[in-house]
Amino acid sequence: MDDCIFCQIVAGDIPSRTVYEDDDVLAFLDANPLAPGHTLVIPKDHHETLNDLPEDLGSEVMAALHRLTPAVEDAVDAPASTVAFNNGEAAGQEVPHVHGHIVPRFEDDGGRT
Ligand code: 5GP
Ligand code: ZN
Repeated sequence: MDDCIFCQIVAGDIPSRTVYEDDDVLAFLDANPLAPGHTLVIPKDHHETLNDLPEDLGSEVMAALHRLTPAVEDAVDAPASTVAFNNGEAAGQEVPHVHGHIVPRFEDDGGRT
């Protein structure tokens, strides 16, 4: 998908701060973070929503979220995090390439997610 921002990040055509990478999954820092350490986890292949994502790839994304969530919390000394997908435009998904958010949360942070 030439016009997809996240595919361009996977291809290295748009710079990003990589948090984790393997053959199928990429995690990178959000460019407009809701909190320090806000990380996005994506399948490298283009799929618009979770509804289009093959189950095996969904499992890999989930495994990465599972491993990275405590690591991201540790990195910014957060006691908790919101881990979420906006799935579809009406739900607030702005980039049509599946991505999970890891948003570190802090006491009394106002719940901006
Ligand atoms: P959504 O609203 O689709 O769930 O979240 C999209 C996220 O992608 C937003 O948090 C936004 O800040 C982030 N984002 C959009 N464009 C870029 C970009 O070019 N680079 C990075 N690193 N993040 C981006
Ligand atoms: Zn894409």
